[in-house]
Amino acid sequence: MRPDTPIQYVKGVGPKTAERFARLGIETLGDLLCHYPRRYIDYTQPYAVAEAPFDVDAVVKAQVCAKKGAVRLPGGRTMVQVTAADDTATLSLTWFNTHFMADKLLLGEEYYFEGRVRGVLTRREIANPIVRTPAEVRRKPLVAVYPQTEGLASGQIARCVESALAVADPLPEPLPPDFLPRFRLPDKWTAVKNIHQPASPQALAAARRRLVFEELFTLQIGLSLLKSRGAVKSGAPMRPTGLTPFWNSLPFAPTGAQRRAAEDICADMAAKQPMNRLLQGDVGSGKTLVAAAGVYMAAQNGYQSALMAPTEILAAQHAATLQNMLEPFGLRVALLTGGMKAAQKRATLEAIASGQADLVVGTHAVISGTVEFARLGFAVVDEQHRFGVRQRGLLADKSAAPHVLVMSATPIPRTLGLLMYGDLDISILDELPPGRKPVKTYAVTGKKRRDMYHFLDDQIEAGHQAYIVCPLVEESESEAPGADQLQAVTTYYTDVAQALLPHRRVGLMHGRLKPKEKAAVMDAFKQGELDVLVSTTVIEVGVDVPNATVMVIENAERYGLSALHQLRGRVGRGASEAFCILVSDHGGEAVRDRLRFLCHTQDGFEIAKYDLEHRGPGDFFGDRQHGLPTLQLADLMQDTRTLEAAQKCAHEVLAEDPKLAAPEHAVLAAQVQHLFERTTFN
Ligand code: ADP
Ligand code: MG
Repeated sequence: MRPDTPIQYVKGVGPKTAERFARLGIETLGDLLCHYPRRYIDYTQPYAVAEAPFDVDAVVKAQVCAKKGAVRLPGGRTMVQVTAADDTATLSLTWFNTHFMADKLLLGEEYYFEGRVRGVLTRREIANPIVRTPAEVRRKPLVAVYPQTEGLASGQIARCVESALAVADPLPEPLPPDFLPRFRLPDKWTAVKNIHQPASPQALAAARRRLVFEELFTLQIGLSLLKSRGAVKSGAPMRPTGLTPFWNSLPFAPTGAQRRAAEDICADMAAKQPMNRLLQGDVGSGKTLVAAAGVYMAAQNGYQSALMAPTEILAAQHAATLQNMLEPFGLRVALLTGGMKAAQKRATLEAIASGQADLVVGTHAVISGTVEFARLGFAVVDEQHRFGVRQRGLLADKSAAPHVLVMSATPIPRTLGLLMYGDLDISILDELPPGRKPVKTYAVTGKKRRDMYHFLDDQIEAGHQAYIVCPLVEESESEAPGADQLQAVTTYYTDVAQALLPHRRVGLMHGRLKPKEKAAVMDAFKQGELDVLVSTTVIEVGVDVPNATVMVIENAERYGLSALHQLRGRVGRGASEAFCILVSDHGGEAVRDRLRFLCHTQDGFEIAKYDLEHRGPGDFFGDRQHGLPTLQLADLMQDTRTLEAAQKCAHEVLAEDPKLAAPEHAVLAAQVQHLFERTTFN
């Protein structure tokens, strides 16, 4: 059968099953064969009875020494018991409501039993074990376990894969033929057979290596194609401009790290090819100032700049901050957001098109098709992890090829950085402005809420302000929050915050407010006209009010640590001691460990690493699409070397055939297409 045969033609797949597979994105025989197991049960190294660990799935090898007939239990269930043993101990095996397994067992024969071992040291037992004979184990030493979803059990998927492997034509080879001997990789068909039904641990390792390589290679090709679409080679070369006048105009001295990063940027912008640089610096390290230095240099050369921020609040704040910094040089800043009135928007667009605006700050409105720049030379993307690969590409497409700076507080592990940016250069702000103290962080349960409000009250009495973040489903400007979220934040605002602080000025902020209303609330908070701001996570990134000293986060368990760290970064920006209180009634051990970790760690990189290890790269990018397709096999923490090799090969192939149009690349091109089709870009 051809790989594109619909899955219903596979033996054992009825219409119901086909429908369930379809929900996993598996529609053809080829899709099924490329749905890889999550893990394997290894029968090659069984435990002796006395050594089997408790309460985890384990394979134990033992000899059957006694069988009892079925017993009827109260309630109508039946139970069959078998005793097995080896030199070390005896193992009692029990089956409920089925005696089919037990009937097969022969006294005096050895078998492999797989299941969860329970009991005490002297008495070990497994309920409903899976039984395999030594002959079966020789034939299939490693048994694949598939992720079970959509009502498809692992065993059922395994049976479908088995019948598919029996009838399928060999899958075509997407890798260029010279890669296989060069990297000692098995061919596609051998690898696919071995990933499902490994002949040995060695064969499995080789198959995995090959398929990880293929996955990363395909991904890299796709990303490169995406990036190169419409890219123009020549950039906007600028005269080198001294930054001294800019530094001298500031109320404070830049940190050494800010100076170095700004110099990197100036050097890049003086070069012929467009800059592609990542500015990475922990929350509060002062990235905005570095971006402003770039805007200053672009303007000195007669170029416009654009800055894209992930939320309207942040865009408005950046516009105000940058206006302050750039005004002394006669530069004009325009704010462009989705919620602007038509007439106002038209005027702003005209100012951009005529070149009157030197810097345009906005949300994704900045990259919409209607914005025409007179002479865009420098584009900044703030908090880049909030945007997908495609959006960043669109910004770069806006004019010939502006110099691009992406800024992020989330440290990106090397592998992810390589994937997302390829040859991107990196500047790091590894120095906080002077006088910053770590934010004291506590994890508490809801029982402490009253005490916490007393503490808030004391802080307010001392002239400070506080944020309370709730309720706790993440939202963005584009996806309006559901009614229940709105309900949650407004209810909390009236029933908790206002009720517990009746004599204080409490404000409310959420994504459903009109842009004008949001701006008014934010302004009032900034001016000190509000003591407390109850908000959803719309304030997560970038908001800067130095007088705020307390950040309370309700339902803290709902967030990744990097998101919590971002929120925490909203305080501790002034000279006073700052506090972050994580409220959670979630009793889980893992949750408490995570929150405790945050209480003791201020280092953004350590925090990101913890998130990546414990929750995976999806969460790492704040629950949002990070613009990368889902990887089935590759592990971004571990497969760094394979990634580097795959990347090199991708560049080789694209150098020869930039559009992947050659007939020998047809299989590869189809596969790249397929991988990216399943990804939704934001
Ligand atoms: P982030 O890197 O998180 O975007 P911001 O650019 O918002 O940080 O800067 C955080 C705060 O630090 C702002 O209030 C800013 O004015 C202040 N700041 C930036 N650079 C310096 C500096 N060199 N000295 C003192 N304060 C600074
Ligand atoms: Mg910022």
